[in-house]
Amino acid sequence: MLRLSEFVLLLVATLQCRTAFAETGNSSDASSPESTSPAAVVAAANTCIQLQRSLGTSIVQTISSGPQYSIAANAAWSAFNHEVNFQPTCIVFVNSTEHVQTAMKAIYSNNADYVVQSGGHSGMTGWNTIQDGVLISFSNMNATSYDPQTDTISLQPGISWGNASSIVEPFGVAPVGGRISNVGTGLLLGGGLSYLSPSQGYAADNYVSVDVVLVDGTLVTATATNQYADLFKALKGGGNRFGIVTQYVVKAVHVGTEQDKIYWGGIFVYPNSSVEALLPAIAHFAQDTNDTNAVLATDFIASWGASGVEPTIQFEMFYNGSAASFNESFAEFLSIPYTSSTAGPLSYLDLVNEVNFPYGEGNLFAGSVLTGVSSTSNETSNQLIDDYIETYRLFNNFSTTYANSTEIQGTLLSFTPVLQSQIRISYEKGGNVISPPRELGGFNEVLFAVTYSEGVNQAPENIEQGRQFWIENTPRTAGLPLFANEADANQQVLASYGEYEFLKQVYAKYDPSRFNMRHTSGPLGL
Ligand SMILES: Cc1cc2nc3c(=O)[nH]c(=O)nc-3n(C[C@H](O)[C@H](O)[C@H](O)COP(=O)(O)OP(=O)(O)OC[C@H]3O[C@@H](n4cnc5c(N)ncnc54)[C@H](O)[C@@H]3O)c2cc1C
Repeated sequence: MLRLSEFVLLLVATLQCRTAFAETGNSSDASSPESTSPAAVVAAANTCIQLQRSLGTSIVQTISSGPQYSIAANAAWSAFNHEVNFQPTCIVFVNSTEHVQTAMKAIYSNNADYVVQSGGHSGMTGWNTIQDGVLISFSNMNATSYDPQTDTISLQPGISWGNASSIVEPFGVAPVGGRISNVGTGLLLGGGLSYLSPSQGYAADNYVSVDVVLVDGTLVTATATNQYADLFKALKGGGNRFGIVTQYVVKAVHVGTEQDKIYWGGIFVYPNSSVEALLPAIAHFAQDTNDTNAVLATDFIASWGASGVEPTIQFEMFYNGSAASFNESFAEFLSIPYTSSTAGPLSYLDLVNEVNFPYGEGNLFAGSVLTGVSSTSNETSNQLIDDYIETYRLFNNFSTTYANSTEIQGTLLSFTPVLQSQIRISYEKGGNVISPPRELGGFNEVLFAVTYSEGVNQAPENIEQGRQFWIENTPRTAGLPLFANEADANQQVLASYGEYEFLKQVYAKYDPSRFNMRHTSGPLGL
């Protein structure tokens, strides 16, 4: 017999069905499932009732039944993924891999839509929350430990990179993780770019084993050499389409403790007048630097202030070594006039805690990729530098066009170098599905982000037109991979990978009915 709360859940589902449009059917290639069809509403309600019975009402909470529901429904970094836009039918606060298996079995057998949230930092709307579906929250699964015997770090998905790095810091080690402390482990599934990447490859290149709950609830442990080696490789950049990861075991990197200030560097702030010199310097750094100790992150920021759009240019430059080596590696940047710098000795943990991006506003990402350009320039490389200038011009153009908009708070253009050393080390560690070409040298992943004002719950259409214009017109070097973690939800990132065909084959093997393409949000093209 139905309990009162179950009756309410089904009643709501039935009412929603009556008002919903005719069944939309399963989408075959959308970044989010068609979640408002009557079938989806009923499937989600039935799944939640089933899960409340098997796991209990404190683990499986609905909008009316659980004290943590609203906290979790508003936990995502981008406010576009908050409760005002998405009310999951239920949130499953998993405490163990078995809970994930139980949830996935119910979701699969009921044909329900679902989504997973770890650190909540997706820049894609609807990728870490859901309407008329089940949200699996990893907020209670955040254990992290270091094993000195194997020199590995175990990470449950709910941990942030800042917390993971702090927990293992006393051992003098760190995982290859995010550059911003409160970002979560979903970073690994998109490949992951880290301050340790020049010397360690993509973050995901450092997997030792990955526990994965497949769509039908089966648990497998994938390693580089076991029968799931294909899945292991697919999870290095393939995103969430292959199953739910419940534990990552990764190689530990010996970076020292917080007392070991092995890095030299800091944040350099440049005036707007330095832009023209900075863009070629970024292009040169990606192509000419093969020093695994040097790491660069670049932020061109426009903030909507009382006196109009205010630019800030802030570069994070670090060197694992002495000030003298820092000066040598970053000579071109240091020769460009800057207004302030925090340069000094730093520990690895200091790097991870150096910059943060606040929660609470709507955000949208878009990406591109540009080849690095050697400073021993000729005519072709000058043309390639023009691509950097045009990318910046289009970013600047967007900011000026919407300068009077009260609906935007800021924009960001960021270039992240992927050095030749990183590409080489990735291949040496077994390769990943991103698989950048070895012959083209280093390149820069480009992120264009728009931060909307507080209280703006959806991207206004006129602003969206400007963002789409940037996506369609910004230069992009053919043959280089886009970066899954910093792209628009509708960009064909996987198709830009070197191992796209392999990825499609592995997906067909592990999810033959394409359940995940039809029932959860994520990258396109499988
Ligand atoms: C401020 C900021 C800084 C960033 N810095 C970096 C950076 O330095 N380097 C970098 O590479 N990226 C960076 N990113 C991008 C970030 O890595 C991605 O957005 C990443 O997906 C976030 O992971 P998460 O766990 O925090 O997010 P979530 O939103 O929880 O998850 C992201 C996606 O992965 C899926 N997912 C998460 N965990 C699992 C799991 N265990 N199993 C299956 N699917 C799962 C989710 O469903 C969702 O689709 C940054 C993003 C922001 C907003």
